[in-house]
Amino acid sequence: MNKLAVLTSGGDAPGMNAAVRAAVRAGIYYNYEVYGVKRGFEGLINGDLEKLNASSVADIIHKGGTFLKTARSQAFMTPEGRKKAVDMLTSMDIRAVIVIGGDGSFRGAEALSREGIQTIGIPATIDNDLAYTDFTIGFDTAVNTVLQAVTNIRDTSSSHEKTTIIEVMGRNCGDLALYAGAAGGAESIIVPEKPFTIKEIGEKIRRGRSRGKLHHILMLAEGAGSAVDIQRKLESETGEKSRITVLGFIQRGGDPTASDRLLASRMGLKAVEACKNGTDSSLIGIRNNDLTITKIDEALSYKKRDDGELTRLTEILST
Ligand code: ATP
Repeated sequence: MNKLAVLTSGGDAPGMNAAVRAAVRAGIYYNYEVYGVKRGFEGLINGDLEKLNASSVADIIHKGGTFLKTARSQAFMTPEGRKKAVDMLTSMDIRAVIVIGGDGSFRGAEALSREGIQTIGIPATIDNDLAYTDFTIGFDTAVNTVLQAVTNIRDTSSSHEKTTIIEVMGRNCGDLALYAGAAGGAESIIVPEKPFTIKEIGEKIRRGRSRGKLHHILMLAEGAGSAVDIQRKLESETGEKSRITVLGFIQRGGDPTASDRLLASRMGLKAVEACKNGTDSSLIGIRNNDLTITKIDEALSYKKRDDGELTRLTEILST
């Protein structure tokens, strides 16, 4: 019987469990013996693998986090660490690995594939920062978590007639701020992909005040600048006090949305089918709602594009 290993790596994301469930059950369906690896690449190095059956992944489709645990492995970044991982897989006669994670994890997947292990990646990160795919697992849930926070902050922001700067995660990608900001009716959105000036934001705040607007919600993607620095400059521009809310790790947790559970389930099945079909090491993605399979090096060479539609929409609607 062919053997397959599944691991989650890097930052956790809601929907990782649903992806593991799909990979395990699809693997069993296609007559694989499936092993769950604990703590990402670290577990490969330490031999922390456990044979899973259909019941091992029961009752997890709706849960945030990852029951396999996740980790960042310094050891796997070294040739010695990777050799240990490959020796472990070879000794167990496992020839295919499904890696669920973000861009760093996929660099690890690429390194593993260079050692002759068939490696298939499933994108799971709240950052949505992978250019080869429209969406990553966990992003939709994180957008909804941020949206809930924006809704709550809007109430208090209006009551106190204050500008509120909400800092959201996303590393160098502004998608989380952009999508949650557009859906939440934020007045301003600052993302790393688009230059901004304090003067234009100040002007927008003044325009809002002059037509009786009580609040100004400014969504700030963490990769676009320091909230404290922007607050200081904005206060000196407008002469008004403002508040900062840093949402932090609440954005990484929570039960996955229906959309993330479906995406994870579809990608999990696709990944196993790629293994079964003997596909070269690749990453599963989604474009225009169709699943895609792209070779790892090609997928990682793509540059993220922003067509500017949501930014434009916010500029027009948040007058
Ligand atoms: P997130 O986007 O949510 O942070 P990620 O997958 O990008 O998730 P990283 O911490 O960047 O998270 O990477 C996870 C792990 O992947 C690292 O701890 C390391 O073990 C492995 N990894 C990253 N880059 C490489 C590389 N160049 N070679 C080998 N392994 C790597």
